[in-house]
Amino acid sequence: MPKFFVPPEQIYDDEILILGEDAQHITRSLRMRVGDQLLICNMNKRDYECHIASMDGKVVKAEIINSFPSVTEPEYKIIVYQCLPKSEKMDVIVQKSVELGATSIVPVISSRCIPQLDKKAREKRSERFNRIAYEAAKQCGRGIVPRVEECIDYATALENAQSDSITFICYENEHNQSLKGLLSVNKAISSVSFFVGPEGGFSREEIDLATEMGIPTVSLGTRILRTETASPFVLSAISLMREMK
Ligand code: SAH
Repeated sequence: MPKFFVPPEQIYDDEILILGEDAQHITRSLRMRVGDQLLICNMNKRDYECHIASMDGKVVKAEIINSFPSVTEPEYKIIVYQCLPKSEKMDVIVQKSVELGATSIVPVISSRCIPQLDKKAREKRSERFNRIAYEAAKQCGRGIVPRVEECIDYATALENAQSDSITFICYENEHNQSLKGLLSVNKAISSVSFFVGPEGGFSREEIDLATEMGIPTVSLGTRILRTETASPFVLSAISLMREMK
């Protein structure tokens, strides 16, 4: 059943209005008809099973049959702090992170990131990342649309992440603490934040700064993963260890 995100103000007691591009998509591309079923999400973890009551090309009215909490949302927040790689790689990281359950993605500027764009280009890129996140969320049936936040510098990112239930830095030179070890510690978690370095990795100073702040480094195994592989690996591992029955 196709799924659409609709802002809460278009959701009434027994019907939902779908406007704009989505209405066109339902009518023209999907060629749906009155009576066809669809799933609508209020972008805040609630899904509505509906059928189409009427459509006139611009507005699709969907009648609510049933509503229930989105089953696709993890019970805790997961924030991916990704040090900016080359642009196409970030596209993939955003898409895969959304599919794999991230709540938000924060692009981070660390010392080995490739020199950054000017303000206008950054804004354009941010719109693009958020568009990718929206499409991915819709495609995989999320109950929220994860945000790709504004870029921040590494030290600020560490401070922001410090107070989460679990915070860690993925570091290939860590040989004692593994991701599995850290996630196996049986504690209730409400939020997980983790950092992935850019193509050139983290500098020694950056790792030292995290250590001083009490943020541990973890290993993702014996193989060195590319930056775009690390976040999907971590999110999959969290899902496997904490979400799957
Ligand atoms: N500096 C390295 C590799 C960087 S890999 C080099 O050039 O050889 C990019 C990022 O992915 C790293 O900064 C780290 O955050 C993560 N990463 C990759 N493999 C990892 C591993 N085995 N354990 C932990 N983190 C890893």
